[in-house]
This record gives sequence, structure tokens and C-alpha cells, in this order.
Amino acid sequence: MANQLKIMAISAHPADFCSRSGGTLIKHVQAGAKVKIVWLTHGETDESGLLYQQRPDISVDEVRRIREEEAFACAEVIGAEGKMFGFGDNPLRMTPERMEMLSQEIKDFRPNIILTHWQAELTYPTHWVASESAVRAAQMARASWDIRFFEPNIGTAVRVGFVPDHYVDISDVFDQKIEALTKLAAQPHLVSLYKTCNRWRGIESRCEYAEAFVRFAPEVPLLHLLTG
Ligand SMILES: [Zn+2]
Repeated sequence: MANQLKIMAISAHPADFCSRSGGTLIKHVQAGAKVKIVWLTHGETDESGLLYQQRPDISVDEVRRIREEEAFACAEVIGAEGKMFGFGDNPLRMTPERMEMLSQEIKDFRPNIILTHWQAELTYPTHWVASESAVRAAQMARASWDIRFFEPNIGTAVRVGFVPDHYVDISDVFDQKIEALTKLAAQPHLVSLYKTCNRWRGIESRCEYAEAFVRFAPEVPLLHLLTG
């Protein structure tokens, strides 16, 4: 499809993109868009605590393997393709070489829209680095400036100044989003947390369940119609 919409989600950890924007991505896949998920890390430290609790002797490599499997299973439910960079978590270091790799990924996929972490998520440095890297890599790739920031970590939106400027009603695909989230078995708490989050965003936007975004638009848009 020549004019097929392409969306790339750049996610610090396996679950981030799904908890914050999984419903939106499902809706776009259903509408014919091509979606690609890019994971910068396996989340093998900060976001895999349960695995270490359940299996104290587990190796980091095994955690990475499990998290990668979960991430791709989640993307499959969404209908997206995936790319796991596995750069190493905590701290995530985006060296010049890694920036080139991310930029090349954007160049190759040529997304119309990029989704990533909130640009001022100062409370969670890995997410903050991921956001900054996504914006810089898009710039290096001379790619789409239609960048949408998704939710910061649940419970921190007020502290890091995340005030949504648009919402997507995900009520009709909410069950599928939860099914995708359930694939991230190492983080079972996400299901109830994001049910609450999406319900709250639904109340704000007058629907049952919604996902919230802030659009980064460095240039003043010139539109033919408001929806252009
Ligand atoms: Zn994360």
C-alpha cells in the first residue's frame, strides 16, 4: 500500500509501549496501518523484579530471553512487528553507535508517526533517555516530526508535568490491549494499573477507556482541514 500509515513506537522496556499506547496501536493496525515496535532494552533490571523474586538463581541472560519472548508475544497480539536492540538497562547508555543504529531503524521504516516516552520524565532516567534518543534519532534520520509522547510512569504524570493534549478512545479494543499486556507475564501488576489509568483518561475525554498523548510539533502545522 503506497499511502499506508506507518507508526513506530520506541520503548525503553518491553512493556512500556503497550501499557501506554497498546490500544491506540491496535486501532491503527485494524485501520490498515503498519506498526513497528522498537525496544531499546530488555528491562532486565528495573522492570523484571518478579523473575528474580521467583527464581533467585536466574541469570541475567535468562531474564533477557524471557523478556524478549514476552515482548514479541505482546507485539504479535497487537499485530505489530518488533525490533529488540537490547542495549542493556539501568543505565541505558545511548552511545553514538547506538544512536546511529536507532536512526537507521527509523530511516528504514520511514514512520509517519513516532510514539515514545514523555520528554520530561525526570523521575525515570531510562525513560527520559529513551525519549531524548528517539527525538534525536528522528532528527538524524530526517524523519517524521510527528512525535507523540505517551504517559510517564503511572502515578507520576502530575509531578513531571504530563498534561495530555489529545486522547484516543480505546474502549472497543480494550480487551485486546489487556490480552497483549497479559503476555508480559513478568509484570502482572500492569493489567490492573493500566485499567485504572485508561479508565481515568476515559473520564477526562468522555469515553470508557482512553490513552493520552502530548504531540511534539516543532513547526507550526499548516493544515487544509483540522484533521489534515
Ligand atoms: Zn519502562
